Amino acid sequence: MIAADESALRRAIVATSLEMERLGINQGTSGNVSARYREGLLITPSGVSARELDEKQIVWLPLDITDDAELLRMERPSSEWRIHRDILRARDDINAVVHTHSIAATALAIHGRDIPALHYMVAAAGGKSIRCAPYAVFGSQQLSDHALAALDDRRACLLAHHGVIALGADLARAVWLAHEVEVLAKQYLLALQIGAPPLLSDEQMDEVLEKFKTYGRRNTEDR
Ligand code: 13P
Ligand code: ZN
Repeated sequence: MIAADESALRRAIVATSLEMERLGINQGTSGNVSARYREGLLITPSGVSARELDEKQIVWLPLDITDDAELLRMERPSSEWRIHRDILRARDDINAVVHTHSIAATALAIHGRDIPALHYMVAAAGGKSIRCAPYAVFGSQQLSDHALAALDDRRACLLAHHGVIALGADLARAVWLAHEVEVLAKQYLLALQIGAPPLLSDEQMDEVLEKFKTYGRRNTEDR
């Protein structure tokens, strides 16, 4: 019997996958979603589109799972389970991870570009830029290692020739950030049409980062 809280989280993961499609930040079998649960994580299965997804298909993995685990052969979690496991292991401020192939952010990632401080909302990802991790093949430990490095002090990064990773204290915040990253990427691409955009200075971004510590109800509720 699946516990009530686990069942609710499985349904929230399905709802999150559908929400990413509704927001236009993911499509088809691309992307994946996970949430921390007990000493492990609940994660979407591999190769199942949001519309086909059923809560029973969500896979639970322990945080200490390794490559040779029988569970991986049996349950077929997302091919990116290493990224989700490694982030949730490394970051106790994070309880949810989403990965998307959203179009504009991926277009920048194809060029291997970081998103610089072109808008104050870049600070929503935790720093003065949103880094782009170097390319490695999907599902590899190398990709996870690159992602973790690009996420240092950040809650989002791009993956070269691939897509986006966004993190949150919960699923809603992770999806919110993935959507913000896509909006910033669209703004960046549009601004580039009339030349290299001017950027906010280090001091201006420090000011925003400071203000974000107390911005909005959610932040104050967290404390
Ligand atoms: P999965 O269907 O295995 O989660 O793969 C989708 C993806 O985006 C791989 O990077
Ligand atoms: Zn992917």
